[in-house]
Amino acid sequence: MRMPDAVAKAVNAQITMEFASFYLYLAMAAYFERTDLPGFAHWMRRQADEERAHAMRLFEFMVQRKARIELGALTAPPDSFGSPRQAIEQVAAHEAKVTMSIHALFELAAAHKDHPTAVHLHWFIDEQVEEEKQTADLLGRLRLVEQGQGDLLTIDQELARRDD
Ligand code: MG
Repeated sequence: MRMPDAVAKAVNAQITMEFASFYLYLAMAAYFERTDLPGFAHWMRRQADEERAHAMRLFEFMVQRKARIELGALTAPPDSFGSPRQAIEQVAAHEAKVTMSIHALFELAAAHKDHPTAVHLHWFIDEQVEEEKQTADLLGRLRLVEQGQGDLLTIDQELARRDD
């Protein structure tokens, strides 16, 4: 089945959005390196790598479907993000937007009875659940630190190690 034009256009836009996520998280990695938080920078690099992989997963799907790939323009991300908490808040807000975009794409594919695209998007729908939880968990810990309750995190790690 040929991919409907409207679906192809939306998949291409999603590919661009995944690369824009890659670019945003790479900028955050640079910000964390600059502010002497190499652990955060490492996490953001890994996050950026994942976004590139998401883009390529859709790219390869377009190749399989013999649909025309049209890569969109990327805009420059910010180079400063306020604080670690504010940066991770921006990740959470960005991931919420990505989730909405993937859901809309899924609905579009379903409306066009483009079942292969809809099925391919199941993986992305699951992935966004994980992305949003991971980010929300991190944000929760950063809020505890900001409220001066960072010591609870050490106790939390100790409790997590219980294996009997
Ligand atoms: Mg993604």
